[in-house]
Amino acid sequence: MLKGKVAIVTGSTSGIGLGIAKELATLGADLVLNGLGDAGEIEAIRSGIERKRGVRVIHDGADMSKERAVRGLIARTVEKFGRLDILVNNAGIQFTAPVEEFPAAKWNAILEINLSAAFHGIAAAVPQMKKQRWGRIVNIASTHGLVASTHKAAYVAAKHGLVGLTKVVGLEAAGSGVTCNAVCPGWVRTPLVEKQISDIAVQRSISQKEATKELLAEKQPTLEFVSPEQLGGTVAFLCSPAADQITGTAISVDGGWTAQ
Ligand code: NAD
Repeated sequence: MLKGKVAIVTGSTSGIGLGIAKELATLGADLVLNGLGDAGEIEAIRSGIERKRGVRVIHDGADMSKERAVRGLIARTVEKFGRLDILVNNAGIQFTAPVEEFPAAKWNAILEINLSAAFHGIAAAVPQMKKQRWGRIVNIASTHGLVASTHKAAYVAAKHGLVGLTKVVGLEAAGSGVTCNAVCPGWVRTPLVEKQISDIAVQRSISQKEATKELLAEKQPTLEFVSPEQLGGTVAFLCSPAADQITGTAISVDGGWTAQ
């Protein structure tokens, strides 16, 4: 379905981004992986996808907290592959604290990586996608782009902002062949959530297993995690012809979290 197309997935060295990248590669897209981590592990991921899926895969370590680096990632991709069809803005970080104790540096970092990076990436990618008369922008927001939880001021603000940005870009690109949508996952068991499980275990003096149950029970009615593979499937759907008229919207994949 995506043979000959080129996709960037930011923050794809781990978790959800990696799940999405693998799915797009399975469908035939050439890939630009992005994200931080151990160079050897990243190379193993890169070469593994290339070998198993038979597509071209490169890694670009652009720092998503820096405007120039984000715009450079888009420019380098177009330079290397001659095109850009799919941009998945996925890189993200988390930090939790009550608003009055929330460190300003953490606020700034979350806004930069979880929101501003998507703005810079989209701004740089849209002209190329419009020129090609086809493009898919998918912003990985969160249930926290639609509803709030305590102690997540920066994350909730950034994710609500990302859903707003998605609507504006969907409108501005309407009719050009370029769509822009957000995906709003509930809990997915990745390193970002492992840390929150450990925090609950420490705060309430319970085991990791009990903390995991509590985390799910508090928010996610199915009591099951969403998987990176399922989110890969959602992004693939948004890149399929069935989704040609879906733009400027947010799709929840959250085990019923926001139905409550
Ligand atoms: P993760 O920690 O497993 O992966 C985050 C990725 O972002 C990694 O590849 C990391 O290297 C990259 N990254 C972080 N800072 C970066 C920077 N400055 N420059 C470049 N790359 C950077 O987390 P995840 O759970 O897979 O999260 C991915 C996205 O999904 C995030 O935007 C997160 O907010 C969102 N999300 C996660 C969940 C969940 O339950 N895990 C739920 C909803 C939304």
